[in-house]
Amino acid sequence: MSYVDEVYDRVVKQNPGEGEFHQAVKEVLDSLRIVIDANEEKYRKAALLERLVEPERIISFRVPWVDDNGQVRVNKGFRVQFNSAIGPYKGGLRLHPSVNQGILKFLGFEQTFKNSLTGLPIGGGKGGSDFDPKGKSDREVMAFCQSFMTELSKYIGADQDVPAGDIGVGAREIGYLYGQYKRMTGLYEGVLTGKGLSYGGSLVRTQATGYGLIYILDEMLRRNGRELEGKNVVISGSGNVAIYASEKAIQLGAKVVALSDSNGYIYDKSGIRLDVVKEIKEVRRGRIKEYANEVASVAYTEGKGIWTIPCDIALPCATQNELNLEDAKSLKANGCFAVAEGANMPSTREATDFFLENGMLFMPGKAANAGGVATSALEMSQNSLRLSWSFDEVDKKLHEIMVGIYEKTAKAAKRYGVKGNYVAGANIAGFEKVVEAMMAQGI
Ligand code: GLU
Repeated sequence: MSYVDEVYDRVVKQNPGEGEFHQAVKEVLDSLRIVIDANEEKYRKAALLERLVEPERIISFRVPWVDDNGQVRVNKGFRVQFNSAIGPYKGGLRLHPSVNQGILKFLGFEQTFKNSLTGLPIGGGKGGSDFDPKGKSDREVMAFCQSFMTELSKYIGADQDVPAGDIGVGAREIGYLYGQYKRMTGLYEGVLTGKGLSYGGSLVRTQATGYGLIYILDEMLRRNGRELEGKNVVISGSGNVAIYASEKAIQLGAKVVALSDSNGYIYDKSGIRLDVVKEIKEVRRGRIKEYANEVASVAYTEGKGIWTIPCDIALPCATQNELNLEDAKSLKANGCFAVAEGANMPSTREATDFFLENGMLFMPGKAANAGGVATSALEMSQNSLRLSWSFDEVDKKLHEIMVGIYEKTAKAAKRYGVKGNYVAGANIAGFEKVVEAMMAQGI
């Protein structure tokens, strides 16, 4: 049996019930076969793959908090410190009822390669809780965040592990978490990113994942003789990533015709009005269907189905496995020629294979959504320097980083004879740096 298959079998046996983690490991290892086969003896001896698929540490803890009725509630909290070969653990915190250890291991594993691809010195980590912020009052969210950080503060630090936001964690939550870290440790340090501008945050961090997604999409299109201008774009989700991907796509001359949330989607052929979406999502914390009350030309449809809308470009920006083989086929049949992932692993393995086998341009999340964490690393740099850069300075750096990720990804694919396969390219390029650091640092 090949080394890759042996290690994959072991992952399935040793991590029962963690389907998303198995899926992420399989996708990465499969596309690394060409590299691993060429170095099999060396890697086997160093148990390199066994080490790569095992998180360095998982911290799991109780999060008790008091709701507005005086009832004590308990959630599960986690931090997966996956790999610190190239820098302090770095990655978001997710608050969503679907969160469990397996989901966070998949996200931490992906994060390790994504962070490596940025070229910046950040290792991989992820954390979160099954707490559902939906429908909770500000005070309840604060109580939860304070309890979560009371425990987490023992395991993180500016040079150790630097969490940030993810689904369910935005500026409000980062503020409550940061305040509690400071109370617990007495340290004013860059221990979280995505902070408010008044206490050490970076300009562009809010926009970074969405903007970065469009920067790399634009690069991929141009390098393949296409352009973004005038194209119809369907974007799933309506959170931070989807909103700022829409903003940049519109600025560059594309038309965003659809957005969604977990209840349904809006479709407007004449182009979605982003000011209305921002008011609903960022100010009111409302649902996307409220858009239909404000804009007459829109159609709101309850349920899934956003991928049946005709478009040139599709940007899945909601959550894992939101786009399956059926969706991929329907996108292709309706004229879509390019897909870039704003979320983490939003396309199933079958959908990804379909895109690649049918000659569509496909940029995987690891490369495409790395702008968020890259700008987090820029926030860490500014915190260390105790100064802050202008919007244009950070935006320019973000743009350069995304173009750099495109280059590395495309070159690695070409080097291994799979030109245009950015899935393989991103995995290989991310892997090479982590492996070099792991081998150099010994056991
Ligand atoms: N949650 C984002 C991601 O998936 C950002 C992480 C960060 O900024 O540390 O990459």
